[in-house]
Amino acid sequence: MPSSGWLLALLAMLAGMALGSAVTTLQRRHRERQRRLQACAEMAAPCLLLHADGRILQANTAARRLLGAPLAHLDDLHLPAAARSWLDEHGGGGETRRCELNRPAAAPLSLRLEKRLADLDGQDAGLTWLLLHDISQEEDDARGQQLWREALQDSRLALFEYRLAPRRVYGRVLAADNVLGLPPGWVDIGFDTWLERVHPDDRDALRTMLEHPEQLATGSAYLEFRFRHGHGHWEWLEQRAQLCHEDGRVSAIVGLCQSISSRKHAEIELLRREQVFRTLVENADDVIARYDLNLCCQFINRSITRYLPLPRHEHLGKTLRQQGWPQGALDTLEPAFQAVLARHEARHLEVELDVFGKAATFSIHLIPELGAHGELVSILAIGREITELRLGSRLLADENAVMEMIANNQPLNDILTRLCRLVEAQRPQAVCSIMLLNEQKTELNLAAGPSLPASFSGFLHGLTIGPETGSCGSAVFSGERVVVSDIAHDPRWENYRYLALPHGLRSCWSTPIYSSSREMLGAFAIYYPTPRNPGKTELRLADRCTHLASIALERDRHEKQLYFLATRDGLTGLLNRRSFMEVGEAEVLRSKRYGHDLSIMMMDLDHFKNINDQHGHATGDQVLQHFATLCGNTFRHADIVGRLGGEEFGVLLPFTTLAEAGILAERLRTEVDGSVVMACGVAVHYTVSIGISSVFPDDKDIDGPLCRADTLLYQAKTLGRNRIRYDGDPPSLPLAG
Ligand code: GH3
Ligand code: MG
Ligand code: MG
Repeated sequence: MPSSGWLLALLAMLAGMALGSAVTTLQRRHRERQRRLQACAEMAAPCLLLHADGRILQANTAARRLLGAPLAHLDDLHLPAAARSWLDEHGGGGETRRCELNRPAAAPLSLRLEKRLADLDGQDAGLTWLLLHDISQEEDDARGQQLWREALQDSRLALFEYRLAPRRVYGRVLAADNVLGLPPGWVDIGFDTWLERVHPDDRDALRTMLEHPEQLATGSAYLEFRFRHGHGHWEWLEQRAQLCHEDGRVSAIVGLCQSISSRKHAEIELLRREQVFRTLVENADDVIARYDLNLCCQFINRSITRYLPLPRHEHLGKTLRQQGWPQGALDTLEPAFQAVLARHEARHLEVELDVFGKAATFSIHLIPELGAHGELVSILAIGREITELRLGSRLLADENAVMEMIANNQPLNDILTRLCRLVEAQRPQAVCSIMLLNEQKTELNLAAGPSLPASFSGFLHGLTIGPETGSCGSAVFSGERVVVSDIAHDPRWENYRYLALPHGLRSCWSTPIYSSSREMLGAFAIYYPTPRNPGKTELRLADRCTHLASIALERDRHEKQLYFLATRDGLTGLLNRRSFMEVGEAEVLRSKRYGHDLSIMMMDLDHFKNINDQHGHATGDQVLQHFATLCGNTFRHADIVGRLGGEEFGVLLPFTTLAEAGILAERLRTEVDGSVVMACGVAVHYTVSIGISSVFPDDKDIDGPLCRADTLLYQAKTLGRNRIRYDGDPPSLPLAG
């Protein structure tokens, strides 16, 4: 049957179609499930599709990358037991659990596991999605931040973020509140409020950074500024800034700040000390200079202009020679500098210098300056003028020398000359003189003036004393110091200036010399070649000299008095016996050496005992003095008369023959015989007997002739007194009357 066959065929076809259609639907569903699974598997997060029996049906690319080796079963993951049992628990969706996962040949992973049921068409398919969230990085970050917090908790570091669009400053992880004293837990502050807390002097720099962040790239990343701390004080911050970009534009500046207050305060203190030091150096009287290793001046203070003509700034970069140190100073300075260069040891030296026409002495210290490694970097030179000190020492030494001369009885003239030189050494242009009063206190004579021109000194004898008699005459007259600052115009020099001016003497200051009992002795004068007044030092110097001169003069006078007392007879003023004998010895030797005559007389007053007895001892003394006066009148200046005993006298007559001596003796005898001594209204008459001898060639000393004269004297006595006996023929006497 054909109709049943078609039907069957149709049925078969329909059946076939229906079957085909059923197969097609299943396939489509399967593909759909596959696609969805695939889609899930290809999620960005790592995930695994797990079968209920633990098989891993699917692992997406991210999971494979995270876990490494290809995985077939959960056991391959080596999950910790707790995590594994959590996974095995039935049910649950969206639950999470953190676990550590060990990986072969890789660092352990920190994971957060998330379990999701994988339903298919709304039906539980017994499958589970396991999402793996890698939280290693987060944990690292958190741990890192914690470490930073702990490490920097007490540090002086702070991190800020300056966000440009909202114009706010954010405190970041390291924003140590203790650095700025901001309220705890602060998060952000507006730019303006922030800038208000910045020191006004530093504000512009910070504002510029905020308004022109692009400049950071060109080197202004480093900034120091002061920030008002919450406690009120200024905190110095050192900030290193870096730009942050977003979408190709600068969005923020990150600033890492460090508190540098203590360093800044130390720097400020250092600066202050340096300024103090600089002020000291600048205002020091000493010359302070620094030289480099080529001996070129690097620094010099302003004191140098007092000694060298070069302006201060022109010294810089110049060598010693170029600075204008004179050759004499260079001869000492240069070797000393070289020695410091060679040995790195400090040196001290003294240098004589002509400073604008005036001699000056300098004490100079050279000090090596070493670098951090002990190497010589420069030489510090400190020079101090010690002219006055040296002059002071010299003055002391000179004064001591003068005192020693006085103590040693050196001749007065030598002492006074030394005194003049003492002042001239102190004041090189000065010329000094000492004028002394004569015994009568009527005129002045030059006693010392070693540097005075000889032709001028010649005039300085017998100068009168009065109100206008030059400086010395006027000073002695007034009893006060006379300062003539210009001889050419001072009336006190009216009559003398023609003597002084040609010798270049232009000013003269004279100081009177007094004894300790205020007796005027003379005057000390200082002459200068220019018109000028004395300074305090010079006046002091003159006073010291007049004082020394006074000591020398008094000492000299005392010496003379002592000598007089030791050699003279107190009653008559004639030489005493001892002196007479000494002088006699010397005269005998002299006469023998030069072959000239020397006569010797012995004289004795006749019956002197009777005078004493009749008129008294005082009258006897008067007679003795009268006789001494007659001797003085009769004998010449060169003859030496001595009182050898009570009323016994001797005379030495150099260059005198026996006959000449006889004439003198006779003149004396006659004079005595013809005169009377008035005592208490009574005229006392006396006579003298004389014996005369001469020094003969055989005489070795004075004893022989003196003995002969004595013998002759007693012969005269024996013969009746009031007569003369000669050692030889009597001279032919001129006729009396
Ligand atoms: P003649 O002529 O022999 O020398 O006899 P004369 O009396 O001078 O000698 P004599 O030696 O006997 O006496 C000397 C006297 O001189 C004794 C003494 O008292 C006295 N005489 C000695 N020295 C001094 C004195 O300083 N003053 C006084 N007034 N008398 C003195
Ligand atoms: Mg007598
Ligand atoms: Mg006698």
